[in-house]
Parts: sequence; structure tokens; C-alpha cells
Amino acid sequence: MIEDRPANFHPEIAERNFGVESLYSTCYSDLNSIDSDLDLTSEIRRMCVEKRAIILAHYYQEPMVQDLADIVGDSLQLAIEAQKAKADVILFCGVHFMAETAKILNPNSTVILPDMDAGCSLADRCQTEIFREWLKDYPEYVVISYINCSAGVKALSDIICTSSNAVSVVSSIPANKKIVFAPDRHLGRWVSRQTGRKMALYPGFCIVHGLFTPRRTAAMKARYPEAKLLVHPECDLLISAKADFVGSTAAMLNFVAKDTGNAFIIGTEPGIIYQMQKLRPDAEFLPIPVDSRSNCSICPYMRLNTVEKIYLALKDMKPEITLDESLRQRALKPMEAMLSLGC
Ligand code: SF4
Repeated sequence: MIEDRPANFHPEIAERNFGVESLYSTCYSDLNSIDSDLDLTSEIRRMCVEKRAIILAHYYQEPMVQDLADIVGDSLQLAIEAQKAKADVILFCGVHFMAETAKILNPNSTVILPDMDAGCSLADRCQTEIFREWLKDYPEYVVISYINCSAGVKALSDIICTSSNAVSVVSSIPANKKIVFAPDRHLGRWVSRQTGRKMALYPGFCIVHGLFTPRRTAAMKARYPEAKLLVHPECDLLISAKADFVGSTAAMLNFVAKDTGNAFIIGTEPGIIYQMQKLRPDAEFLPIPVDSRSNCSICPYMRLNTVEKIYLALKDMKPEITLDESLRQRALKPMEAMLSLGC
């Protein structure tokens, strides 16, 4: 029997930020129709071959979902793999803006997202029309948008960046140009500090990284003095400033693989720890607690994708991401501007 709500769903996060109803998929009743004797993994693999489908999964997905994927990566890696894919079907195990990005880069592929409710607090709180109005205060500025945004926001941008390449993208803008950075203010502040460039920052943030506090992070450092603190730049600058390493999920993995330490405090979504443990089975990974009841900060959107929903999505070829062609082309330009930098 499949529960109506994912086991790891955080109602307190959803309720506080968005209203629980908005996070519930409409297709949970379909899940109960799946034959309980069916070997879902084999069926998914069979359908992938039959439909010439590729499964891309973000590091924040459940381990079972990561294991099903052809490619697991961060948003930059997945954006590049989506472009290389040349598959008839791209099944994207991530959130809506990621699947939309795959569609922007692969207009001839059918892109499906197992749960259309897999949104993103950062992207959802930077609505296109509000962003358009906000930009009116910044004429002549170069608009750099983090990839965690909708196609509408991308279309209003000059260049896209990811957490992997944000420093390089900002550094590529001539020094005499003013810059707007959207929608993550924490990433913007961190990049500003790295590059020395002043930027106008859109006031968005991620609810997952926003739950980490300097106080709880400091308490973890005090409790595990030998452990190195690794954080994502979507965390508050007060946390990043104390970290041993700040970087994207891919960069954190790279750090863990090469570092000689054997304990790491992890300041990002704990889905990444699955890949870290594969790379360093000898090391200990300690997620930063977000309150006295939970020992990590799980993204309620990312975890909406499940093996059952992947099976249904491939079987029924839905929910499908569709985009108006003129919007797609406008959103493609700043994506291509980023990819052409090769960073
Ligand atoms: S972790 Fe934050 S930025 Fe990433 S998808 Fe979830 S809400 Fe969005």
C-alpha cells in the first residue's frame, strides 16, 4: 500500500512556506493501481530501451532514484548531459526548472518529470512578471540568473550561471558593466565576495539551505572539531564564511574524493551524502541539523519523485514539460551564453 504522502515529506516546511495542498501531486491515486508484484526497476529499464529514454537525476534525489538513473549530477552537469542526450525521451528526476531547462536545450525530445508538483522555493518565488517589474529599477545592467529559475525568468536574462560556474560567469562580465544577480541572494553575496564585484541582488532564497543557521553550524563544528565543514553557496554568508570549503554539489564531491580528512559536516541537502559515501566509504558525513527534531534539511520538492512515479511517468509518458517555442528560444540564448564560456 502506498502512502498518500511521501514518507520523508516535511509538512512543517511545506505548511510554513507554501501551504500543504500546493505540494501534493494529483496522481497519488494512480500509484495504488500499480501491481505490487511488479519488478519496477526491471520494468523501468525495459521501457527506457523500448522508448529510447534516458533518466537524469539530481544528487538530491533518493538513493533508489539515483541508482536508477543513467546520469546523476548537479544542475550544470545535467544541463550539459541533457544537451548531449539526443534521446527521444528525457525523464528528469529533479525539479520543474531542471526539466524545463532540459526541454529548452532539447526541443525535439519528450521531457517528462515524474511529479509536476516538484517545484523549487527559489524558482517559484521569482515569478516572471514580478521579476520583469523589479528589473525596471536596473536599466542597462547585465542580468545574470542562477539556473534555478523558470524559463520566463531565463528569457529576461543575459546569461545563466550555476553554483559551479557562477564565479566564472560573473568574472566574464566587463568591469565597467553593472550586474543584477537573481534569484538567490545568498549565492549572489558569496559570488560578490569571491569576485569583488558589487551586484544588485534579487531577494530570493532556498528554503532548504535557508534553514541552516550559523548557531547550529557552529555547534556542529564545536562538537566535531576534526570534521571539515563543507557548505553550498546557497547558505547564508555567515555560514559560508566559516566553512573549510564552499562549492556546488559536484565540487563538494570532488573535495571529499581528494581530501585526506575522514569526517565532514555537510551543509546542503543530504541526498548528496549517498554519492559521498560511495566515494569515501571510510569517512563519516554529518548533516547539519535544522532543529531539535530533524537531523538534516531535506528538499520536500526533490523528494516527490519516487520509483513508482518514474514507472508511471514512463508508462504513460506524462507529466510532460511543454514550452511555447518563442519563450524557449528566448530562454535558450542566455543558456547558450553560459555554455559557450565552457566553464
Ligand atoms: S534544494 Fe532549494 S534550490 Fe534546490 S530544488 Fe530544493 S528548494 Fe529549490
